[in-house]
Amino acid sequence: MSKQTKFESYREMPIRAMTVDNMLWNETGSWRNVKPVYDNKVSPCIYGCPAGENIQHYIQLVIDRKYKEAWETIIETNPMPAVTGRVCSHPCMDKCTRGDYDETVNINAIERALGDMGLDNPEWMTKPEKSKKEKIAVVGSGPAGLTSAFYLARTGYSVTLYEAGETLGGVLRWGIPEYRLPDSVLDRVVEFILSSGKIKVEAGTTVGKDIEFKKLRNNFDAVFLGVGLMKSRQLGIPNEDCKGVEPGLDYLRKVNSGQVSSSSDKAVVIGGGNTAMDVARSALRKGSDVTVVYRRTRTEMPAIASEIEEAEKEGIKFRFLASPKDIVTDGDKLSKVIFQEMELGEPDETGRRSPVPLEGKTFTMDVDRLFTAIGEKGDLDGFKSEVDTEWELIKVKGEFGETGKKKIFAGGDIVTGAASVVEAVAAGRRAAEKIDRVFNNEKDPPIEQEIDFGIENINTDYFPKSKRVLKPRIPASEAIKGFEEIFKGFDEQMLQKEADRCFSCGVCNYCDNCWIYCPDASIIRKDDEYEIDFDFCKGCLVCVEECPRSALSIEEEGK
Ligand SMILES: Cc1cc2nc3c(=O)[nH]c(=O)nc-3n(C[C@H](O)[C@H](O)[C@H](O)COP(=O)(O)OP(=O)(O)OC[C@H]3O[C@@H](n4cnc5c(N)ncnc54)[C@H](O)[C@@H]3O)c2cc1C
Ligand code: SF4
Ligand code: SF4
Ligand code: SF4
Repeated sequence: MSKQTKFESYREMPIRAMTVDNMLWNETGSWRNVKPVYDNKVSPCIYGCPAGENIQHYIQLVIDRKYKEAWETIIETNPMPAVTGRVCSHPCMDKCTRGDYDETVNINAIERALGDMGLDNPEWMTKPEKSKKEKIAVVGSGPAGLTSAFYLARTGYSVTLYEAGETLGGVLRWGIPEYRLPDSVLDRVVEFILSSGKIKVEAGTTVGKDIEFKKLRNNFDAVFLGVGLMKSRQLGIPNEDCKGVEPGLDYLRKVNSGQVSSSSDKAVVIGGGNTAMDVARSALRKGSDVTVVYRRTRTEMPAIASEIEEAEKEGIKFRFLASPKDIVTDGDKLSKVIFQEMELGEPDETGRRSPVPLEGKTFTMDVDRLFTAIGEKGDLDGFKSEVDTEWELIKVKGEFGETGKKKIFAGGDIVTGAASVVEAVAAGRRAAEKIDRVFNNEKDPPIEQEIDFGIENINTDYFPKSKRVLKPRIPASEAIKGFEEIFKGFDEQMLQKEADRCFSCGVCNYCDNCWIYCPDASIIRKDDEYEIDFDFCKGCLVCVEECPRSALSIEEEGK
């Protein structure tokens, strides 16, 4: 077994120094004071995704063309990748290590491609194996409610989903316009979620009005409240109720249900969030000349950055550092708006600099229609006495949506205030898992601490610089002519090209580098893992150095 190859002449030797046969004749293990260890880490993008999607893993499965497995990996934490792949502000990408090298991996586009594949392959969805006796009521069918219903049903519980509207989806249905999230996609997502197990839908039923909350508490083993923010905030200035002034959410509801006809008027939208951008871009498509007025500057706008850029490309005008002060009417109809000019003062509790009025500085605009989009609030009339509330939001204790009232859980915007789709998805899943743990008398899992992982952990010699693959799109000049979806999905070639850019940060992808480079041939290659033979490893750490992605670490001997 222990054999040393002898060379008769230098001509017989390999062209560069390398191990021939094996090194079993030469045990070196005792030389070592440090040793390499295989220790996969959590890639930084995963910490960036509020839903905790295992992004690194599904991208590697994509590279292996294991699309079904990649989709299943997403579905473990997010049942609507076709939605988030279209509308998520992708905080995961802000954490992507590749951003400090050339351009971040287009995780959002990869997610969308997989989400769409899932919708095209309904047979990928499996039914729950077990049926549980407990019954759960979910109130609200936005992303929080749909997600909690999905995970509860998948675990085998019987779910009844109450929704005030006639159709399901919450803001995804009546808020976000077709050019960002087509109804045809949302319909299929809802259908997929409803097929995950036993979910009975009670649409057109407002809890607290059409059915008493008490009934839910008495008839179900648990209740999840994902009722979102249904009321628009008011400006609080004179004549706000005149003809021509309309809450942005009401306008979006009408646009999304096809009730708005074209008009070539002058519209002003007040606000700087996602609602303001959607109202402005919808009104533009309906023929209006649109100006967005925001009381801070572009930097402080809370809307998703790419939505602001799209609005600018489409020709929306912006007027910053101004706030409506007075509405002038002609009879009962809006005719002009007087604006107060502002400047930026000290940061407020959100960390953004607050707008402060500039004494004596106003200006007037002729306006046909004024849309208000300065924020939304909860409507808790039907169950205020059942839960603890603060600022018209439901108070929860800890991470998993417990309201502190027996059997009652809550999540999504009604807990956090206006947030995002993926945060609502995360809250819906966490609450569903918590409900399951309560029934099974199980402990909560520990909260994972984020580790530091940066570009310094990547051996960039192995990665040629490359540009991010972008989703194909229709140009802004075309997009404004209607409500056609602007961004299209990746084809397989694009998907492969973009997935290939992923470093697989901190996680071994079996590239064989460590095995190839070990000068003592002390790495043993098995099917899906490597083992180090420590009788022969002398701790030179060449493997650690040559791992492109820090999937190996250094440990002191004897520790
Ligand atoms: C116009 C607009 C655009 C947005 N764009 C984006 C975006 O691009 N990306 C992003 O990440 N986030 C976006 N957001 C934010 C995101 O949509 C929300 O954070 C998310 O929808 C919150 O989900 P939710 O399930 O908590 O509530 P919602 O989506 O608001 O759903 C709540 C549901 O509960 C129902 N309901 C309420 N009360 C009752 C009751 N008493 N009985 C029965 N049913 C009830 C409602 O009818 C509704 O269907 C946007 C928000 C708006 C308003
Ligand atoms: S849901 Fe959003 S944050 Fe999570 S992986 Fe998708 S794009 Fe990224
Ligand atoms: S390179 Fe890949 S694994 Fe690393 S952070 Fe970006 S997407 Fe995640
Ligand atoms: S070098 Fe390659 S095979 Fe070895 S640990 Fe790193 S990623 Fe895995």
